[in-house]
This record gives sequence, structure tokens and C-alpha cells, in this order.
Amino acid sequence: MSDHPSIALIGECMIELRELHHGGLSRGYGGDVLNTSVYLSRLMGADATIRFTTLLGEDPFSLEMLTTWESEGINCDTVGRLTGRNAGLYFVRTDKIGERTFHYWRGQSAAREIMGSDWADLRAHAMGSDWIYLSGITLAILDDPGRERLLSELAVARKRGTHIAFDGNFRPTLWTAPADAAPWHSQVWDLSALALAGVEDEATVFGDATPEASLDRLRDHGITEIVIKRGPQSVLLHADAANQYIEVIPVGNVIDTTAAGDSFNAGYMAARLKNRAPAEAAHIGAMLAAEVIQHPGAVIPPSYMPTLL
Ligand code: AMP
Repeated sequence: MSDHPSIALIGECMIELRELHHGGLSRGYGGDVLNTSVYLSRLMGADATIRFTTLLGEDPFSLEMLTTWESEGINCDTVGRLTGRNAGLYFVRTDKIGERTFHYWRGQSAAREIMGSDWADLRAHAMGSDWIYLSGITLAILDDPGRERLLSELAVARKRGTHIAFDGNFRPTLWTAPADAAPWHSQVWDLSALALAGVEDEATVFGDATPEASLDRLRDHGITEIVIKRGPQSVLLHADAANQYIEVIPVGNVIDTTAAGDSFNAGYMAARLKNRAPAEAAHIGAMLAAEVIQHPGAVIPPSYMPTLL
């Protein structure tokens, strides 16, 4: 791995409205890939270039997001602003055991246009990175021609030596049915060097009966480094041609599981980019996720970031 790797993370950030216990609302910003970008930037500091790759709108919230990302050390050279559009919005409710439900207003969000011809230069810049990271939600917000274009640009980048990391995050409301997502996810898995998969997402999209079945299926795509996240249960890891179960960190008081998987991914990738072994990287991912789920919201205050690397 290069001394100063560059990682482009392609996705959408939305305005987040979170219902508080007394019925009020708090406003933040979030999106799975953005969450990973923030945590990765915090963990890598000056040792890497973390590029969030997206389109924002003309609304004041979009501008505030950009300022926030820059203050997190994220490189925003691959962030475009689309006239006539706004950022998407979601509303999140969290129940007594910390599980959350999401409601979205994102049909017209600027980020959906990222694969448009006007943004080819922006994408070319991102695709020149050492790593590209994307999720099932990145695919879900695009139309079919946009997905085709993304796949062909990823294939070209991969041929040039870029590594692709994918989290098959599945949001049922963004697809007509899980079976619609499966062929698109499969094509990204075909191109991926690193799988950061959630056990439920894989079971829903592909009907896998067990985590081990998901792992075998991902291996059939030629992926040699695979992480299957299973909430409070041990992480199933395949690396260096062997399977291992890595215990997660027990958390007695789960406040909000938002971004558990996103922060895990950032911890895992940061550790690997810093040449730590896969099993240690899984432990580091689990340590960050354990901290994140003890706070409300997707992105914890920087002062709560554990020292991991
Ligand atoms: P998930 O996306 O729910 O599979 O969670 C991603 C990662 O967050 C897991 O692999 C764990 O490391 C951590 N995590 C999630 N839920 C819990 C929990 N209840 N207790 C401890 N760690 C958790």
C-alpha cells in the first residue's frame, strides 16, 4: 500500500431529522458512505486523502454540509453542486432498544445525478484514487443507465489498479424488491477486492441461509478479503485463504445502532491501509462501532473517538 493512499467514497449525504424523546427534533447530516468517510478521515488524518464523491444542491443545508466535511479533513474536490436541486432528507426514529427506522424524502436529491455526463471529469478524478468505496445505497439511488455507467467506470478503474471496496447495504424502500438489487450488487461484487458485508443485507438480497453461505458466495466472485458483520455476534472474516470468527466488543448500553456498520468499515479500512493484519483490523472496526453505538446519531463527537491506530 502506498505511503499516502487516496480513497474516493461515492455516495449521498442527506439532511437528518431525528426525533427526540420529548417529541422535538434535532438536525444533523448523514448517509452511510458519508459516515464512513468521516470516520475514515478522523482515523487516517494526514496519512491519506479521503475524497467524498457526491453532488449537493443549491440549498443552504448543502453548503453547511460541505463546510462540515471540510472541517473533518475530507477532501471535497469531487463534490459538485447541482443547480435547481436540493439535498435529500430523512427522518429517524429510535426505539427503546436502540433499533432505528428511517423515512426518506430523497427522490429529487442532487446526488442521484452523479452519473450524469456533466460530471464525467469529477468522476474521473475520483476513479483515479487507490481505492473506491461504495455501498448498495450508492447503487440504489441511481437509475439503470447510471448504474451501468458506474459499473463500466469501476471496471476501467480496476483495470488501472484501483481497488474496490463494497458494502452491500440494502434499503428495501429504495428498490422495488430485493431481487431487483441482486444483479447490480453481483456486478459490483465481481469487481471488488474487499467485501464489507452485513449478514442481513446479504440474506435479504441473495437469500443466503447462513453467514457462511454468504461468505462462500462472495468467494465465488473472486473476492479474497471478506468481512461479514453480524451485529452483536462475532464477525466472520475470510482473509489469507482462511476463515476466522472475530469477537465483537460487548456493549451493555446500546443507545443507537445507526452507523454501526459504517464506522466498522472505516475502522477496518483504516487499519488495513496502515498495514495491520485483517484480524486486527476487524477488532479495530468492532472497537470503533462499539463506541459509536453508545451515542445517539451516526457521527459521534470527535472527543469520543477512541484511540485505535
Ligand atoms: P451491524 O451492521 O449491525 O452488523 O454492526 C456492525 C458492527 O457493529 C458489528 O460487527 C459489531 O462490531 C458492532 N455492533 C453492532 N451491534 C452491536 C451490539 N449490539 N453490541 C456490540 N457491537 C455491536
